[in-house]
Amino acid sequence: MASQDDSNDNNQNNPEQEKPLDFIREIVARDVAVGKHGGRVQTRFPPEPNGYLHIGHAKSICLNFGIASEFNGQCNLRFDDTNPTKEEAEFVDSIKEDVNWLGFSWARECYASDYFEQLYQWAEELIRQGKAYVDSCSLEEMRSHRGTVTQAGTACEHRDRSVEENLDLFRRMKAGGFPNGAHVLRAKVDLAAGNMNMRDPVMYRILHSEHHRTGNDWCIYPIYDWAHGQSDSIEKVTHSICTLEFEIHRPLYDWYIEQLGIFPSKQYEFARLNLTYTVLSKRKLLELVEGNHVSGWDDPRMPTLAGLRRRGYTPKSIRMFCEKIGVTKYNGMTDLALLENSLREDLNRCAQRRMAVLDPLKVTITNYPQGQTELLDAVNNPQDESAGKREVPFSGTIYIERNDFMEDAPKKFFRLSVGREVRLRYAYFLKCEDVVKNEAGEVVELLCTYDPETRGGSAPDGRKVKATIHWVCAENAVDAQVRLYDHLFQIENPNDLAEGEDFKEHINPNSLILVDHAKLEPCLAEARPGDHFQFERLGYFCVDRDSTKEKPVINRTVTLRDTWAKANKKK
Ligand code: ATP
Ligand code: MG
Repeated sequence: MASQDDSNDNNQNNPEQEKPLDFIREIVARDVAVGKHGGRVQTRFPPEPNGYLHIGHAKSICLNFGIASEFNGQCNLRFDDTNPTKEEAEFVDSIKEDVNWLGFSWARECYASDYFEQLYQWAEELIRQGKAYVDSCSLEEMRSHRGTVTQAGTACEHRDRSVEENLDLFRRMKAGGFPNGAHVLRAKVDLAAGNMNMRDPVMYRILHSEHHRTGNDWCIYPIYDWAHGQSDSIEKVTHSICTLEFEIHRPLYDWYIEQLGIFPSKQYEFARLNLTYTVLSKRKLLELVEGNHVSGWDDPRMPTLAGLRRRGYTPKSIRMFCEKIGVTKYNGMTDLALLENSLREDLNRCAQRRMAVLDPLKVTITNYPQGQTELLDAVNNPQDESAGKREVPFSGTIYIERNDFMEDAPKKFFRLSVGREVRLRYAYFLKCEDVVKNEAGEVVELLCTYDPETRGGSAPDGRKVKATIHWVCAENAVDAQVRLYDHLFQIENPNDLAEGEDFKEHINPNSLILVDHAKLEPCLAEARPGDHFQFERLGYFCVDRDSTKEKPVINRTVTLRDTWAKANKKK
């Protein structure tokens, strides 16, 4: 089984459920039904270890591992590590961690580099069949021979080299006898093909570069098209699922497999995920990291799985999102709000409630017995009775949110102002009697009275209050830094720019706001990195890995409602 945890309540394990299958699952179901490959289903997720996985990869992971699980098949994790100059072991480790974190485990951990020898042998076989040749043209010469979409390519003099000469040159390429760029190995397909990928595609290039796994064993490396399909075939992949931009590579995928007469893996394409306010290309994400626009690959504003995890996303919320967006053949743009809503849905179920004040205003309750503290019962999660209750301390000095008080309050302001009464969550009615100001005339403290008869939140005389506000007891409040995150980009599509525009110009300057003197209820001192909470009335938060017992650091994961849409429509 590909899925590990108990929370796969989507349509896994039951492909015949009412929910209509997407077009890829339909193909798989049909193949299984007719007993193709004995009804066996083998998929793979093939990341190139040149960066961290992002939310787009999650779509591919959920699809590949999901299908394997639903059809009693297997999914391999295959590192497509054919480009030694950009790849690193660090990325291999992070990819494994992220796939596991999402809740999936692979049947086999594979590396395209493990197939280098086999690929090399097959390349010699194509040469012997007269279907591959060594081309010694320069890049410019190759380009000029290539033709255009409307004009066939032309052969260069190397295309007619004998099998012996090709084998000799190719072996010397492998042995390190030539500098980078001196020769390439090309498949001899069709120089007049309408599909440019079929005009004698390059199979190997010379690259004197150390590989993170094979070291200096190789100085020729296979091109994606030559490595990918053959790797699929070696692993007996039945359904090789990739994104639409590879559709045009499919004829070549099939051609190589046919020439070699090896296991007939087949490729199927689906639309990649594009998200509003987000860039998903690894090149751009790397630019953000290297230019210090973010603190690293796991900056909580990054769309990487490491970033989303640190932000407070749960694996389940991401899987729910991937299920909601489905799988289609048409490229489109998915609203970031959909991802955030999946997150809210999951956290609403699983996050315990706490009280925290981000912008504290001191309140002295003048009629509360001096020196007294009491413990009040608070519900941990109204969505989940089993989460139980906790005790929250209350005393004559508390903090409330500064914006829950207004000096010259309009009629419709139902929270605190001199003469107005509110309910303190889990506690009492509180009435503001007077304010204390500093020399600058700013309100620095409220003088209030409470009604001891209203413990638990209602008045025996039946009088009503219109607002309930949160608070934290001053005496044992925990001081914390809270990091308020928002969209990393200010424009909906930072990928669609005018010429000369740089996507980095559109970074949201308010994507991170630091709140340094937040007050948390005391039990949060025990919270550990990765713990999730709903801070009542404020949103969902989680403890950052920078957090220490002395100085807790809390990330805002997401607000309770989609405030972005509202704020930005007004403009
Ligand atoms: P990028 O364009 O971000 O550099 P990539 O396609 O080069 O990504 P790979 O590591 O080669 O990244 O991708 C591994 C798998 O994940 C591939 O099958 C690829 O098609 C898929 N994938 C990558 N980006 C997305 C996306 N945005 N939506 C869905 N699948 C994706
Ligand atoms: Mg790629």
